[in-house]
Amino acid sequence: MRNATDTSSIDLESLEYPDAVVFDLDYTLWPCWCDTHLSPPIKRGTSDLQVEDRSGYVLSLYRDVPEILKHLREKNVKILAASRTATPDVAKSILKTIKIDGEPVLNYFDALEWGQGTKINHFKKLNKKTKVDFNKMIFFDDERRNKDVERSLGVMFNLVDESYGVNWSEFKRAIKGYNERLKSGL
Ligand SMILES: [Mg+2]
Repeated sequence: MRNATDTSSIDLESLEYPDAVVFDLDYTLWPCWCDTHLSPPIKRGTSDLQVEDRSGYVLSLYRDVPEILKHLREKNVKILAASRTATPDVAKSILKTIKIDGEPVLNYFDALEWGQGTKINHFKKLNKKTKVDFNKMIFFDDERRNKDVERSLGVMFNLVDESYGVNWSEFKRAIKGYNERLKSGL
């Protein structure tokens, strides 16, 4: 786990937001590899925020994810996904089945891109679909290898710790970092 610095003093209201936030899925929004840990069909678990697979394996989003998605929507920030999963159908069925305030998580996303190999390709497609510039996107992902999008395209990369996924502390740190980057003119 990374050494967590205190982010409680960061006031999000005083900061500028990117035009889009892009999320990886496995170990960024939920704690599993959906192509290996889950056996379809996927059905609702004991609450709207849970799914259960054929074997009874129960999966939820990481704790802070629902509130962060709602927050981004309130801020009119586009919500995008870039996933290398080998089973987009399973991922989509999780996103359709888990509901936040009665609405499928899938509806929160403006665009999703799939496919094996470097995520540079995912981002090029997201840019085409949404018209959001790469330097107005920030990206959360638990795998360092996907930082190639920062080097190649200029998307700001934020490494996620798989033990807690995207959480408020990491989110605040990322928005603050984005503002520092804006100030530095990069
Ligand atoms: Mg991942």
